[in-house]
Amino acid sequence: MDVQFGRIRFIRGDNSGKYPFNHSVYLEGNNTSVVIDPSCSMRKLTELKEKSKIDQVWLSHWHEDHMGFLNLFDNCTLRISQRDFPPLTAMEIFLNWYGIRDRQLRELWKNIMLNNFNYRPQKEASFFSDDEVIDLGLLKVQIIPTPGHTPGHFSFFFPNEEILFLGDYDLTTFGPWYGDVYSSIEQTIQSIRRLKSIPARRWIASHNTGLFEENPGKLWDDYENVIYQREEKILDFLSEPKSLEEIAGAWLIYGKLREPKEFFEFNERVLVGKHIEYLERNGKIVLYKNKYMKV
Ligand SMILES: [Zn+2]
Repeated sequence: MDVQFGRIRFIRGDNSGKYPFNHSVYLEGNNTSVVIDPSCSMRKLTELKEKSKIDQVWLSHWHEDHMGFLNLFDNCTLRISQRDFPPLTAMEIFLNWYGIRDRQLRELWKNIMLNNFNYRPQKEASFFSDDEVIDLGLLKVQIIPTPGHTPGHFSFFFPNEEILFLGDYDLTTFGPWYGDVYSSIEQTIQSIRRLKSIPARRWIASHNTGLFEENPGKLWDDYENVIYQREEKILDFLSEPKSLEEIAGAWLIYGKLREPKEFFEFNERVLVGKHIEYLERNGKIVLYKNKYMKV
């Protein structure tokens, strides 16, 4: 069900906002109205467009499951972080930022992006500044930089309504994603902690539960702890030296092989890869004769 809080509307996504959908937000300022992350539902967004004035589309970050129906809003000003804009300007850059190198997988992704996510290269956007406060007319929004998931991920805080839009720091049991070329585990941890410290009374996450009307409390720690649990599993697995392929093939993060295999294999490998880099940087493992070992 959609829920209205003053000038802020939570628009629940299809299939509980699970990928490829999300939950969107509509902001009805007295001067300017905005849709945040238009990927919730073709039907709902088409209806919204017919019934309401929409001036701007805001994207929390560059991922496809946050802009699936962006093409419905061609006439609106697009706003995003400058740091996250490059993948929106060209398909090749988009695929590069995911680190997809295999030619077949690139072709597969191109088709998915064109057909399922209506990808179209964007020529221009208006960029947010970190921590700026935007007045939409009787509705104020603070733009909170929360890098890590992507370099330019933004969360949005509505100080008067005490509502915090978390974006993809979504408090799911799976835990945070930081598998892209420019994702960062360090920054993800900092961003989770910053979001946790913001004095909100309601929280909106992009996927699954979506709306939290009570303090998520322990969910914050659980979500951050997933990072350390992944790390521990990898370290345990390195009781004997192992190659990157061996570590990725053990499904330590997803727990078991998932379908469609080529997607989840890729995801497992990039997440494991990020942890390996992180462990190496922190001096906990070293590479010796193509195998990683604990220090
Ligand atoms: Zn994302």
